Amino acid sequence: MNDAQPITADAEIAPPDTGGRVTPKASEDAGRVTPMMEQYIEIKAANPDCLLFYRMGDFYEMFFDDAETASRALGIVLTKRGKHQGRDIPMCGVPIERADEYLHRLIALGHRVAVCEQLEDPAEAKKRGNKSVVRRDVVRLVTPGTLTEDSLLDARRNNYLLALARSRASSSEDRFALSWIDISTGEFRVAECDRGALSAEIARIEPGEIIVSDALYSDAELAPYLRSLPALTPLPRDMFDGATAERRLASYFAVATTEAFGAFSRIELTVAAAAVTYVERTQIGKRPPLSPPVCERAGATLAIDPATRANLELSRTLTGDRRGSLLAAIDRTVTAAGSRALAQRLAAPLTDPAEIAHRLDAVAAFVADGAACSALRKNLKAVPDLQRALSRIVIGRGGPRDLAAIRDGIFAAKEFSAELTALGRHGVILPRDLAEAAEGLRRPDPALAAELQRALGDELPAYRRDGGFVRASYEPALDEARALRDESRRVIAALQVRYAETTGIRSLKIKHNNVLGYFVDVTAQNGDKLMSPPLNATFIHRQTTAGQVRFTTTELGELEAKIASAADRALALEFEIFDRLAGAVTAASAAIKDAADALAAIDVATALASLAVERDYVRPEVDESLAFAITGGRHPVVEQALGGGAPFVANDCDLSPPPPHSGEGGVGAGRIWLVTGPNMAGKSTFLRQNALIAVLAQMGSYVPARAAHIGVIDRLFSRVGAADDLARGRSTFMVEMVETAAILNQAGKRALVILDEIGRGTATFDGLSIAWAAIEHLHEQNRCRALFATHFHEMTALAQKLPRLHNATMRVKEWQGEVVFLHEVVAGAADRSYGIQVAKLAGLPMAVIERAKLVLAQLEAQDRTSPAHRLIDDLPLFAAARPAAPPTERDAALTAVVEALAALHPDEMTPREALEALYALKGKLKP
Ligand code: ADP
Ligand code: MG
Repeated sequence: MNDAQPITADAEIAPPDTGGRVTPKASEDAGRVTPMMEQYIEIKAANPDCLLFYRMGDFYEMFFDDAETASRALGIVLTKRGKHQGRDIPMCGVPIERADEYLHRLIALGHRVAVCEQLEDPAEAKKRGNKSVVRRDVVRLVTPGTLTEDSLLDARRNNYLLALARSRASSSEDRFALSWIDISTGEFRVAECDRGALSAEIARIEPGEIIVSDALYSDAELAPYLRSLPALTPLPRDMFDGATAERRLASYFAVATTEAFGAFSRIELTVAAAAVTYVERTQIGKRPPLSPPVCERAGATLAIDPATRANLELSRTLTGDRRGSLLAAIDRTVTAAGSRALAQRLAAPLTDPAEIAHRLDAVAAFVADGAACSALRKNLKAVPDLQRALSRIVIGRGGPRDLAAIRDGIFAAKEFSAELTALGRHGVILPRDLAEAAEGLRRPDPALAAELQRALGDELPAYRRDGGFVRASYEPALDEARALRDESRRVIAALQVRYAETTGIRSLKIKHNNVLGYFVDVTAQNGDKLMSPPLNATFIHRQTTAGQVRFTTTELGELEAKIASAADRALALEFEIFDRLAGAVTAASAAIKDAADALAAIDVATALASLAVERDYVRPEVDESLAFAITGGRHPVVEQALGGGAPFVANDCDLSPPPPHSGEGGVGAGRIWLVTGPNMAGKSTFLRQNALIAVLAQMGSYVPARAAHIGVIDRLFSRVGAADDLARGRSTFMVEMVETAAILNQAGKRALVILDEIGRGTATFDGLSIAWAAIEHLHEQNRCRALFATHFHEMTALAQKLPRLHNATMRVKEWQGEVVFLHEVVAGAADRSYGIQVAKLAGLPMAVIERAKLVLAQLEAQDRTSPAHRLIDDLPLFAAARPAAPPTERDAALTAVVEALAALHPDEMTPREALEALYALKGKLKP
């Protein structure tokens, strides 16, 4: 749409229906529908769920409800244009040169836009008769998940369209298939999952738009969840028709059968076909270059549910910023495509140790060869966004700068492949991922880049329609047309000089505007002279304005025609050349895409290597064990935030299963660390750093530690107690419990669970009991590796009963009544909370602090630890595993007796009162 044919209609002279922006004619018959309105209504009816951008000259106009919606959304003036069925037609419009900006705002607000263009020159329409309407049709639907323009996209993030479908055919268990496409980069993936994993899958893909069938959209069980997702579009069933899926998918890729892509289940085919069909529909038949669909094996990536992602602030912070997230802390990529690839890896860490090792090998190669790494990174900076330029060109939305990007990208690919090969030569062998990248880099034909180099000029306009991008002497016919055009302009200048001389009017000028074309322009006084003999034989009056009189001449008219046709011819030739080059690029798109992906992969590997060296990260050992041994681990984000000031205190963590026969019980199950310590001591930081180290390791990055050995984790859970301000905005006790329930129900023995102050959102004894039971469940049932931070130091007593539970505490030092946090994790339990010391640090008034100390002394005198000791002795271990029987009548009676007994004060009773009380108690037992 950026690059539409330059159909310029002139505001003042164009008749109403030829595409000019015109003021409404007051006299339109009330009942009659104009041919243009008829066309509008027809096109609008075909696109009822979109705002219709209806091209008229240099504007996209909107009418009726669309106009009202858009004027409100965009803050643009609502006007009227004629009448429809007796009523004024509301209208508003946006100029085409600002269309992208307005589109961006409408899409961000959740609208979809149908862009309707003029498909012929208004002059063509006029030839069919004065009343005829310019041919128009929708050329594209703009939806949040199908954008390609740089101005509409974030360069560092993928923008996925996700299709979702459900199959209930086989067993009672629902299966879901997902297929996601980024049409701006050509990525195309398919996966299957069950209901439990669905929200984690969607959270990892983070789609810009989701399409589902009408049926799924109105499914009672799923609807509340689905409708909480952004940009969800329900579509008619035919898009999700399993019977035609294979054919639609094959036809998109112009292959006879989809078998070559691998084995897909029927539901996967259905959903992949829905995605490509939607792409075709929104692009009106154009086919963006997609890679063949890649099927993701279930469990191939680390499952991280939405709450955990939010909580660990993987790609954005809880407040929604990229800054402060893990992604921002580790992103050292220098290209947009590299940044997107890194974000993808972080969103979906792997679970196959061999694949992880391949990625780590690539990083290691650049850690080992710093010189090669920095040389590559220096050159990468200049590499354009090949992926997105390519997509735009293939769907006919590209401009001259996109062709230049392809040219530069192909040249860069050649250079990089040589550099990579050299790297392989002084080391041993090139790691697999780099060898693959080198292969991809060699694929595009340098002859194409050379051709682009010859064809494109040095300074390129943004749009094809601007012309002037083909280099001089590339095409003789173009040179000739341009010479004629430019020569004619010089002839006009000469003509002006001659007219000024022959008329004796020194101020005479030849000017140009869109209404009159070229004209002779003189002041009002001089006008009379040209309108009287003999000069009026040459000068033909055209227009008189306030101070000026305007003329034309036969000679000027002829010259103008010549200039116009030379300019038109030059532009037409440029279009031809552009289309030819774009065609060549399209033909080579698969090879170019491979090179683009390879460049992104090199960017990621060198960026991770550079991060590792800069921040002193170490290569993790990831294997099939259940180990989790981190030596000297650091929090990657907090460490950087501390800057050069106070150093970050590194800490160890070992959740590996205890060795057999160690007396710690349970072979093949990891440990749980219970971390106690006062507020602000660093518990949350310690918990998160271990989760982040696991994520980094499995995405194939070095990690902030001295050593790390991690047995692959299949699911990661992280929850923060409701009162923690980290959970701001969604912190209710209910949410906390629902999320905790999900963990206790889902975590298997390969999971890693981080629970931070669970149970803090309710009264102390409630909270303590919940935390207590949760730990027992994790230890006995889930048997997974876990870190549990709590300020209930009573819980440390649990270690006596749970053999794989290990107490750890944050060391603090008390110094002259002040508490000093050492941020050091040591074995053992916190003896107390230091709450008052922390309150003092926070600046509570001295009087309050002193009073609190008194109260605490009183409470401590009553021995707060005894209830916990009693708990450990009295409670049968893991009673929670057996469902409690519902309370019987007898239980109720017993309770009543106990309550009544507690209320008695024997010392204050007379013997008679005591006897009556005894009868009363006995009475309560008999119904
Ligand atoms: P807690 O959860 O125990 O209340 P936090 O983990 O929130 O404590 O840590 C409080 C602050 O202490 C953090 O914001 C950070 O600035 C600092 N901190 C935590 N751990 C460390 C560490 N290992 N080294 C240096 N500073 C730390
Ligand atoms: Mg905390």
